[in-house]
Amino acid sequence: MSVCSHHWQTISGKCAIGYIPGKHILGLSKLSRIVEWFSRRGQIQEELGEQIADYIENLIHPRALGVVIKAKHYCMISRGVKGSETDSMMITSVMRGLILEDFNLRNEFLKLIEE
Ligand SMILES: [Zn+2]
Repeated sequence: MSVCSHHWQTISGKCAIGYIPGKHILGLSKLSRIVEWFSRRGQIQEELGEQIADYIENLIHPRALGVVIKAKHYCMISRGVKGSETDSMMITSVMRGLILEDFNLRNEFLKLIEE
C-alpha cells in the first residue's frame, strides 16, 4: 500500500522481487520490510520501484535484480477516469545487471511472477 504523490490517493498492489546474489543474500522478511518501508512515503509508482531497486543494489550488490510492481491506482478510480476498475492497474518494472542482457533470465523471472 502506498500513496500517489499527485493526488494523495491510495496505490494498492503487489511487488515481486527477484535477484541473483553476489556475495550476499537477503532474508525473506527483509525484502518485505524494504518494500513496506518505501511504500510508506508518497510517490509515483515508477519511483517506488527504482527506490526499492537502488536500496537492494547498494545493500547486497546482486548480479541480477528485478523489481516488478502491479498496482491499482485509486486516484484513477475515484476521479472516474474512463474504463473499468481493471484499467487502473499499472505495471512497472525495474531490471538491473545480468537480467538486462540475458533474455532467458528475464523470461524466467517474468514467468515465475505471473499470476
Ligand atoms: Zn494519482
